[in-house]
Amino acid sequence: MEEKVQMIINGKELEFPAGITVLEAAQKEGIDIPTLCYHRALDPAGLCRLCIVELSGSIRQTIRVSCIQEVKEGLVVETDTERIRRNRSLLLELYLARARDSVEIIDLAARYGVTSSRFETGGCDECVRCGLCVRVCREKIGAQALSFSDRGYERHVSTPFDRLSDDCLGCGACAQICPTHAIRMDDRGNQRKIYSWGQVFARFTLEPCDACGRPYAPQKYIDYIHEKNRNRPGVPTSKNFCPECERKEMAEKRSKFARFRR
Ligand code: SF4
Repeated sequence: MEEKVQMIINGKELEFPAGITVLEAAQKEGIDIPTLCYHRALDPAGLCRLCIVELSGSIRQTIRVSCIQEVKEGLVVETDTERIRRNRSLLLELYLARARDSVEIIDLAARYGVTSSRFETGGCDECVRCGLCVRVCREKIGAQALSFSDRGYERHVSTPFDRLSDDCLGCGACAQICPTHAIRMDDRGNQRKIYSWGQVFARFTLEPCDACGRPYAPQKYIDYIHEKNRNRPGVPTSKNFCPECERKEMAEKRSKFARFRR
């Protein structure tokens, strides 16, 4: 039987499965805790520090990052105290100094009453250096096209030597996961570019879908998907279908199978 823990979040007694994090528990309850470096597809890294909460009860009173803190029997969690808001405001001032062109950071900071920053970072763009793009590329796609370069204020995400990348597959996962849209993917006609920091780091010609004819993915990425699906039963590997046509094809197969079983 699944182990459960009883704890209190924002004054409410609740029960959660053991092993999940305080952030996941709060999200289950619809409690909003801001995050930048958290994404459910990746292991939590606790880097952006925005998801801090106050903990007490079964542990000594403290502030911790909720994305890496596991739920615990008797834990008392406060997600939005004066102290937490003060800390988040300070962090958001720093993020605003780093990424003052980012609409997402401007909006998030405004929620905490932060509209300007006392800090000077010596350079500014839309990137908050959360590292999600680097991690999704390495850990989920296996391409290792992106990494961090330089140190301190100069630290930034880049391709090797800031040149067009040979390792990029053009999947767009980095653009999708970026919390501030600092990396973008642009499809025009049959051309795709992945770009950021005022610089294009990969360009591709898009191949057409075998069903609808719409250009949808670079050959490199199609090969990668076929390779991944090679041993998955029922997934076609000989056809190049865009995601919509593949969904339709799978739905048709399922309904044919259901009719056959009746
Ligand atoms: S588009 Fe390129 S850099 Fe971005 S995640 Fe995919 S392979 Fe990596």
